[in-house]
Amino acid sequence: MKGKFPVEKFQTLRTPFYYYDTEVLRQTLRAINAEIAKHEGYNVHYAVKANANAQLLRIIREAGLGVDCVSGGEIEASVRAGFPSSKIVFAGVGKSDWEINLGLDNDIFCFNVESIPELEVINELAAAKGKTARVAFRLNPNVGAHTHANITTGLAENKFGIAMRDMVPVIEHAQQLKNVQVVGLHFHIGSQILDMGDFEALCNRVNELQDELERHRIRVEHINVGGGLGIDYEHPNRVPIPDFKAYFDTYAKKLRLRPGQTLHFELGRAVVAQCGSLITRTLYIKEGATKKFAIVDAGFTDLIRPALYQAYHKIENITSEEPTVAYDVVGPICESTDVFAKQTDLNATRRGDLLAIRSAGAYGEIMASQYNCRQLPKGYTSEDI
Ligand SMILES: *Cc1c(COP(=O)(O)O)cnc(C)c1O
Repeated sequence: MKGKFPVEKFQTLRTPFYYYDTEVLRQTLRAINAEIAKHEGYNVHYAVKANANAQLLRIIREAGLGVDCVSGGEIEASVRAGFPSSKIVFAGVGKSDWEINLGLDNDIFCFNVESIPELEVINELAAAKGKTARVAFRLNPNVGAHTHANITTGLAENKFGIAMRDMVPVIEHAQQLKNVQVVGLHFHIGSQILDMGDFEALCNRVNELQDELERHRIRVEHINVGGGLGIDYEHPNRVPIPDFKAYFDTYAKKLRLRPGQTLHFELGRAVVAQCGSLITRTLYIKEGATKKFAIVDAGFTDLIRPALYQAYHKIENITSEEPTVAYDVVGPICESTDVFAKQTDLNATRRGDLLAIRSAGAYGEIMASQYNCRQLPKGYTSEDI
């Protein structure tokens, strides 16, 4: 089974480009909202770093989600897309002064703070504006995630967060500062996680930490468990919507919220990955000594995940129905890692055929670069073409 694409319209566009099926995005958002409606106090913030396309942001905002930003630029993009500042959280190990000031000027919901020096700078900058910044501490829960090593973030060896043993002293220190108010705890263990046991391990850790806070008579208003829910890269047509029910039910069953506490999630990939495809044109078929190469006009400058994480993306020839043949699908960049797939079956492919590299809506267009003086790919939604 292949995806459905407006191939005639694609023929008039310069390749490569991203194509976003907004119906898939809307269905995904409906599925999220249907699940969180079953639980009291659940809030989802879309992780803007997955894709900051203005039209996608607008649709996500209309569905009522908040945002999770990791830079000043993402705060600006979110404000431009109309997200209320009361739904913006701002994370990141290295926030610059101008970025903190931007968050303060917008009165964002919360700064997710990753170190004491950062806390002190936020306090100082807030004091200069006569404001009080709401902060949550990002704790490193030392919980492993069964995902690619480059995308685990919650292990003690990773650069993210504050060590658990420092939690109480750090909060007590923050309580001495006049221009910050501690409102939450924040966690994020990694990305492309499909084993609910990993999220369960996080819940157990959060429960232990909350018990410890209670012993010190510390109560926070909210818990933010980050994102990381994975998608099915193998079957974008059969499984276009991630298993949000299993995900939210895991938290509902395992995480013990205190009365009145809200629970916040920061989902990126699970929201936008399946609605996007990178559309590329076949330039040449080269018969190698042992295999056939399909050389296409997209490269890792357009989609870096295969080169960076050995990530798998399903590829479909959307202009051929001929019997399948195995190809290495490779780009034009002068680097050996510029390979989208090895020995993947495509309907027999000729020069000019259009290929869809699927599940590319997250960490695709947003990570594009201009290496080799290439143009950045454009992004079109199913509503513009
Ligand atoms: C990247 C990131 C997310 C989103 O991760 P996904 O795997 O795309 O859901 C959420 N929170 C933080 C702090 C992040 O850095």
